[in-house]
Amino acid sequence: MSPSPLPSTPTLSNAHDGIPSRLLLKATSAKDLIYAGKTVSDTIHLTRGLPVPQGISKPAFLAAIDDLKSALGAEHVQLNDTEIKNGWYMEHPNTHDMMPLFDFEEFVASAVVYPSCVAEVQMIVRWANKHLIPIFPISMGRNLGYGGAAPRVRGSVTIDLGKRMAKILSINEDDFTCLVEPGVSFYALHEELQRRGLGDKMWIDTPDLGGGSVVGNTVDRGVGYTPYGDHWACHSGLEVVLPGPDAQVLRTGMGALGVGGENTWQCFPYGFGPYSDGIFSQSNFGIVTKMGMTLMPNPGGFESFMYTFPNESDLAPLMEIIRPLRISNILENVAQLRHGLQTLSVKGHPRTKYYSGFGPMPDAIVRTELEKTATGACAWVYYGMSYGPAPIRKLKLDLIDSAFKQIRGAKKIDPATLPADEYFWSRDRIASGTPDLEELKWVNWMPNGAHAAFSPVSPIRGADATKLYELAKKRHMEAGIDLMPAFCVGLREMHLIVEIVYDAADAGMRRRAEKCLRDMIDDAAALGYGEYRTHIALMDQVAGTYSWNDHALMKFNNQLKDSLDPNGILAPGRCGIWPQRYRNRGWELKGGESSSEGVGVGPRAGSSKI
Ligand code: ADP
Repeated sequence: MSPSPLPSTPTLSNAHDGIPSRLLLKATSAKDLIYAGKTVSDTIHLTRGLPVPQGISKPAFLAAIDDLKSALGAEHVQLNDTEIKNGWYMEHPNTHDMMPLFDFEEFVASAVVYPSCVAEVQMIVRWANKHLIPIFPISMGRNLGYGGAAPRVRGSVTIDLGKRMAKILSINEDDFTCLVEPGVSFYALHEELQRRGLGDKMWIDTPDLGGGSVVGNTVDRGVGYTPYGDHWACHSGLEVVLPGPDAQVLRTGMGALGVGGENTWQCFPYGFGPYSDGIFSQSNFGIVTKMGMTLMPNPGGFESFMYTFPNESDLAPLMEIIRPLRISNILENVAQLRHGLQTLSVKGHPRTKYYSGFGPMPDAIVRTELEKTATGACAWVYYGMSYGPAPIRKLKLDLIDSAFKQIRGAKKIDPATLPADEYFWSRDRIASGTPDLEELKWVNWMPNGAHAAFSPVSPIRGADATKLYELAKKRHMEAGIDLMPAFCVGLREMHLIVEIVYDAADAGMRRRAEKCLRDMIDDAAALGYGEYRTHIALMDQVAGTYSWNDHALMKFNNQLKDSLDPNGILAPGRCGIWPQRYRNRGWELKGGESSSEGVGVGPRAGSSKI
């Protein structure tokens, strides 16, 4: 490999969000590939100037920023008034979404502030209440595909919690738990276990890419691929700063005990009384400053396996086979059934290497190209892992083998035949708790590659998989976009993740991608399927589909919002929850809008002004 002309990626030894040095070479070549696909400059001048949030004049805003600088130190507050810079996964912006569905200047912050402790987070909340300035907390801001670090309301002040609050506060070897601050990435936690010599004893659970924070991923209900894949289900205990004018701090679960709660804070998530943690995930009700997480004991062995299935029509019978195996834990992890095209795209080449025509790449070409790869021509690839000592694995793997082979043409690929750089080995690392950087590669499918996901949830049934697959196929065909679905199978449900890869610099393609996503959300809702997570531009629409009993759930969320955040300063609009001051002023996005903003905001809570 020739040396990269680009500066090297920061490592964990010089940045909280850096890459582990074991992955530096991989990061260098990933970065080279991404920059080879960029046709436009990373730097974007803010043609609309400083994005001052609505409801405050520019001079008043600047005076408020000066107050914040005096309180925290000028170097910990950055104004975002001249240009924003894109980057890539490991060197991403904290000011905006570098993979936008709208114009780059829509979901953009006016400033970024870096607190160093809980007291400073409280101070920022009080400041926001005083000046009625919207704030938007991020842990690391790598929620790419769902908005990244971008605030929903243009001109919000981003609170980048991760930069100065990145401590692993404890790792408990007896209980297999840890307590972390927002800036701890999956990479960092994994490296720390190795450094302490605990890597053989306990595992973390990591998502496809390990650069996100444990806190950010968990509060946004992300998943990983060991048996501990449901991160929210595996967390235990939160510390939260509330958004009201007094910026109260609370601890949930056993952490709420007056004395000594740290004992069991990470062992028992519920404590006594209502289980409040839920309202702090996928919401805008609080800022999480600490979180407990469980760690998985090394199961004493593991073995990845991969099967290919020849026909698209194998999807439905395969799901019927997978469901009982998954529910009874014979299939033990959040496994993935991927479409062949995704397996091709993860090789990291641009689409034009295979096909330059408009519209989805023809199946015949996908098959011919796959024929030249380790999987061979196929429609679906299943990646899974079996855990435990060899004799136990054998029992499970034999059951899986005879079940999967009921599909005519099903093939088990022998890992011994696969080269070291085959994507299979990345899934092998991830499913055994070692964070990786491989998944990024399918973003190179398009120049200036960006992605956004359609992520509906359904039971693990053939009929459901077929309906979702067919609707995605129809809408992709209309939009002229390649379809790359992956079914991620949880215990009793599956998330269908359809990542649309588009050119972020091509406004026409962005519009097609947005329309395709919106159409799929509506089609899915009409059939009784809802998304588990979505991009900030689509949150109003998705929240609107959860409308049972005249939107009773959103009414409840609004009540909570108004009570906890009477001035509506914390992440307005996130997950479709708008504070009173913003409601019914045209802030909701339903599709077709050219601006992300509404018309004005209301007065301070309790004020007599109208
Ligand atoms: P990651 O750290 O994995 O890169 P992000 O920081 O982008 O993830 O977090 C995903 C989303 O979750 C953010 O956009 C934000 O709305 C929310 N979030 C992240 N961290 C916190 C936190 N500590 N408190 C409250 N909300 C958070």
